[in-house]
Amino acid sequence: MHLDYQPITLNLETPFRIAHGTSLVRENVLVRIRAAGLEGLGEAAPVRQHHETQAGVMDYLAGLELPGDPFLLEEVMASLPPGSQAAKAAIDMALHDLQGKMLGVPLYRLWGLNPARAPETSFTLGLGPVAEVEAKARAAAERFSILKLKLDADEAGCLALVRAVRAAVDSRLVADANCAWTVDQALRLIPALADLGLEWIEQPLAEEDLEGLRKLHPESPLPIFADEPVRTARDIPRLAGCVDGVNIKVMKAGGLREAQRMIAVARAHDLQVMLGCMMETSVGITAAAHLAPLVDWADLDGNLTVTNDPFIGVLVEKGKLILPDGPGLGVRPRPAPAGTEDSGAKT
Ligand SMILES: [Mg+2]
Repeated sequence: MHLDYQPITLNLETPFRIAHGTSLVRENVLVRIRAAGLEGLGEAAPVRQHHETQAGVMDYLAGLELPGDPFLLEEVMASLPPGSQAAKAAIDMALHDLQGKMLGVPLYRLWGLNPARAPETSFTLGLGPVAEVEAKARAAAERFSILKLKLDADEAGCLALVRAVRAAVDSRLVADANCAWTVDQALRLIPALADLGLEWIEQPLAEEDLEGLRKLHPESPLPIFADEPVRTARDIPRLAGCVDGVNIKVMKAGGLREAQRMIAVARAHDLQVMLGCMMETSVGITAAAHLAPLVDWADLDGNLTVTNDPFIGVLVEKGKLILPDGPGLGVRPRPAPAGTEDSGAKT
C-alpha cells in the first residue's frame, strides 16, 4: 500500500471560543492510501490539549511503511509505532474507505448499520457575548433542533447566556462546560440549568476530578457526559458510576475501529454514548457519521463552520445526518463554485 499525506489549513467561519481557548483556523492533515488502483481517504485533526500538532502528525507519517493488505486492518493498526492518535485515526479511516471501495459498499453497510437510525446532530455555539451567542442561536435554530452551548466559569454569565438563548429559540438545549467548574459551582449551576430546560451537561469538572464527579453525579438533576477524560476504551470502565454517558471522538480514539470498541465498552457499563468531533473536513466528520446509527447523541458539526472544506460527504437536513451511499466513506471532492473554475487554457 502506498501512503501519501498533505497539510490542510481549515478556515473557520467565525473564531470559535471554548473554555480552553480561541481558534480562527485549524491545521489538519489529509491522508491517502492507495492499493489495487483505488484510493482511501483519511484525515488527522491534531488534538491540541493532547499536545498534538500538524507537524507532529506529518513527522509520524513520514517514512511509515504499511503492510500490504487493507483488509488486515487489525494487523496494520497493531504494526503502527506509538504516537499521534490523530495520525492513526487518519490511517484507520483511509483503510476503512479502501475496504468499502474494494467491496463497493458504504461503510455503514459493511458494519451492518441502518443509516436511518443516526440521531440528529447538535450544533455547537462557541463562547461569546450574550447578544452574539443569542444571534448565532437564532440562525442555527433554523437548521438544527438541538443546540449545544459552551459555558465557562462565570456562573452569572452562564445563567444569563442560557436564559437569553432559552428566550430566543425553541430548540432543545444542551451544554458543555469543558472542565470549567468546581463541584460546588456545578451543584449550584446544574439545578438552575435544569430549570431552564437544558437536557444534559458535558464535562462540568476538571478532567481528572473523578472524585468530584462521584459526589456530583447522584445529586445532579441532569445527565452528565464525560468528554476530556475519554480517549480510548480503557478510559471508560473507571467512569461508570461517575457519569451517565461518554463523548467518543475518533481523533482521540485513534480510529473508527477503536471508537467501535469504545461504544461496546460504554454499553457494557450502561453508559449513554455521544459521538463528538474536532474541527475537521467532511472526510473526518463523514467517517465518524458512519458510526452514528450506534449512538444516542451526535455532535458532528465540525465541518459545518469550515469555509474551505474541499469535500462533500455526510449532509445535515434539519439536524438529521444524511449519510452518503457511495462506497467506503462516500466522500467526494466538492465541485468548485460556479465562475471559479480554471479553464486551464493559457492562450
Ligand atoms: Mg466537549
